[in-house]
Amino acid sequence: MSIKLDLQYIKGVGPERLKILKGMGITSIEDLLLYFPRRYEDRQIRTIDQIRDGQQVTIAGTVAAGRVSGGKPQVITLSIASDERLCQAIWFNQTYILRQYPVGSQVVVSGKVRWRGHVPEILASDIEKLGSASAYQQILPVYSETARLSSKVIRLMMQEVLRFTSEYFPEILPSDVAQGWMERSEAYRQIHFPQDRERLAAARARVVWEEILFLQLACAHLRGNTDEGSSPALNGPNQRLREFVARLPFKLTSAQKRVAREILNDMAGPKRMTRLVQGDVGSGKTAVAMIALLKAVDSGYQGALMAPTEILATQHYDTLRLAFAPLGVQVGQLSGSQTKREREDILCRMENGQADVIIGTQALIQEQVKFARLGLAITDEQHRFGVRQRTALQNKGEYPHVLVMTATPIPRTLALTLYGDLQLSVIDELPPGRQSVLTRKMSAKGRPQLENFMAQQIEQGRQVYVVCPLVAESEKLDLASASERAEALRARFPQYQVALLHGRLKKDEKDQIMRAFLRGEIDILVATTVIEVGVNVPNASLMVIEGAERFGLAQLHQLRGRVGRGAAQSYCILLPGNTETRRLDILCQTQDGFKLAEEDLRLRGPGELLGVRQHGLPELRLADLTRDGRLVEQAYQTMQEIQRNPEPYAALLREAERKFKAAQIGVH
Ligand code: ADP
Ligand code: MG
Repeated sequence: MSIKLDLQYIKGVGPERLKILKGMGITSIEDLLLYFPRRYEDRQIRTIDQIRDGQQVTIAGTVAAGRVSGGKPQVITLSIASDERLCQAIWFNQTYILRQYPVGSQVVVSGKVRWRGHVPEILASDIEKLGSASAYQQILPVYSETARLSSKVIRLMMQEVLRFTSEYFPEILPSDVAQGWMERSEAYRQIHFPQDRERLAAARARVVWEEILFLQLACAHLRGNTDEGSSPALNGPNQRLREFVARLPFKLTSAQKRVAREILNDMAGPKRMTRLVQGDVGSGKTAVAMIALLKAVDSGYQGALMAPTEILATQHYDTLRLAFAPLGVQVGQLSGSQTKREREDILCRMENGQADVIIGTQALIQEQVKFARLGLAITDEQHRFGVRQRTALQNKGEYPHVLVMTATPIPRTLALTLYGDLQLSVIDELPPGRQSVLTRKMSAKGRPQLENFMAQQIEQGRQVYVVCPLVAESEKLDLASASERAEALRARFPQYQVALLHGRLKKDEKDQIMRAFLRGEIDILVATTVIEVGVNVPNASLMVIEGAERFGLAQLHQLRGRVGRGAAQSYCILLPGNTETRRLDILCQTQDGFKLAEEDLRLRGPGELLGVRQHGLPELRLADLTRDGRLVEQAYQTMQEIQRNPEPYAALLREAERKFKAAQIGVH
């Protein structure tokens, strides 16, 4: 280990700037070098007859004259001769320009053009002495600035640390692989001060590819080496499965049938299934999961279904018990808030194999939870779980087959990064008779009208959800706003049953409220986001979302998905505060979850979807998973190569280890 120079010894970094940098998360030269430009300014030098009114341009020439005129503000004009023509560069109040760039200086000036007759005027934003033409930076990096640190200052500091790139970013690729890429330290230099567009593109490719590769390695590391070994072939008899399908109160859609077949095919073989089922809200994923679970049981194994909330877990438990009990399949539930006796009883039945199918929340992945012979692990609403939780379930038992389900579609690039290679099944069809949910924004003024509409729906026998805004990342404050709303509605509608549901209630209380709502005994259910995923009450036809602008699009789509589950026309009313609401328009226009997820990815970046932040995975600073699909694939190929044959990649793996450590991922 060489001793690394402290940031404070860099020219231009005094104690004051050191503090500002620290506030930006930059505490070392390496951090600074990893602070990439946000964009680049094109300063290709033009000749005067090339420039047009209104353009941002850069001109090189000789200062022919300089003067100050006007009172307030003072106008400073430099006449610049270039190719036998003149232009006037203008500043306000900056009289030092005259001193710094006397007549005869060779300069490069950038700014906005305004033609005045035959002479263009440049409202100057930048001037530099032209040392040699090659030293001139034609593609100028622009950094995200803060109030106290301008892009220009960052650029100057960057120029000072640029000489350290070979020290901090030595080549880590084996030479045959390295040939395909720009050399590593060169890439880090070019990304800051590109010599031309081609080299910038090559530098970006190298840096992005490397970022993605490190993230993939980190994810693979978290997944553990779970892809080896063989899984049980779940190919038991079909008799009960047929009976189950025949007893369903509906006919499976052809998409459900297709996906079920894909799953059963995978499960029948000894190669571990890792399959992601994507299906929009209401597409009927539960029935598909049930088919897979039943198959596991009929092959002599247990199946587990993990859900992100207790409410959803209980709903699944009720649904599965109802469907499976007549078939003689034993269903159990494990939750975080059971009594000690209940808990010990179910743990015991799981361990001795009496329970065939177990439903639960994260409680399922606690250490003391053991299965007799887990053959299939299903995670519902997978996007709500972290990487660790998802993989913990599949590490119970010996290589159970793995199925994850989601209504929030993730682009393939993201899936590949997160899960490695996994098979994808899409339920691209809704059950027949579903109508799209009419979605409208409404201002606070519309409240009386909305209340009339609520009453009208209830009079027609329907039920209503009112979801309260995320006040803060604090369940307590969210709860306050929800209780207030519930009180107001009780006062407004004394004749109706209004109930309040939130995460702080005991499991029993939550279960009671949800079951009463399902039975139609509650007219208006005021809730926090605890009902966001999975909840299925087909008779509910109106979803009112308060403070809608506080939710992400995918989240709003999920909430909206709580209605439109029956045959009745359903409605979703968005009550935004008076801040930005344009984002909500897209929700009013489309029911397409995929479109909304992509929009979310574009607006909020992958951090959210990946859960990168909360897991301390290496960050993607430059990579854009919506655009860099090809590099994602290339990185994935390299990762597979590394896993097959790690030896030549020792330097790269050391670097990965160092990064994971910095990101606080334990390395075993
Ligand atoms: P999600 O995909 O959002 O998890 P669910 O599995 O909760 O959807 O199903 C939503 C509703 O649609 C449930 O009431 C379920 O019984 C019903 N359903 C599922 N499949 C069909 C089908 N093929 N035809 C009619 N209704 C169905
Ligand atoms: Mg569901």
